[in-house]
Amino acid sequence: MSDANDAGAPDCLFCRLVAGDIPADVVQETPTTLAFRDISPAAPVHILVIPKQHHRDVASIAEADPHLLAEVMSAAVDVARAEGMAADGYRMVANTGEGGGQTVFHAHVHVLGGRGLSWPPG
Ligand code: 5GP
Ligand code: ZN
Repeated sequence: MSDANDAGAPDCLFCRLVAGDIPADVVQETPTTLAFRDISPAAPVHILVIPKQHHRDVASIAEADPHLLAEVMSAAVDVARAEGMAADGYRMVANTGEGGGQTVFHAHVHVLGGRGLSWPPG
């Protein structure tokens, strides 16, 4: 079941950020997505790419609107290229659900790079 909501979810941090109620260091915007720097960066480049529409996680987007998920992923690739990470490589992560490490329940893709990244993650 999707919880997409054009008006935004009232208690959702990232919906408030999309609405401009809380500030963000925005690096890219498309009609359907927003990309901004993570407030607590885990790498020299750490950007979050979100759909402007509220969805709980990427699984919810896949169920409700697969085209939107493609737009989010394309935006993440564009951001990585714009940040100069295409040549050296980067990581895109979508923590999904509490067990997956998700803490903000508005779908987002982390774009991380600017240093070597080890695997597996913790
Ligand atoms: P998650 O743990 O859900 O995968 O990722 C949530 C991310 O949102 C974390 O990396 C966290 O640092 C970031 N974050 C939390 N609150 C804010 C905020 O108010 N502004 C920004 N730019 N990032 C935030
Ligand atoms: Zn939201």
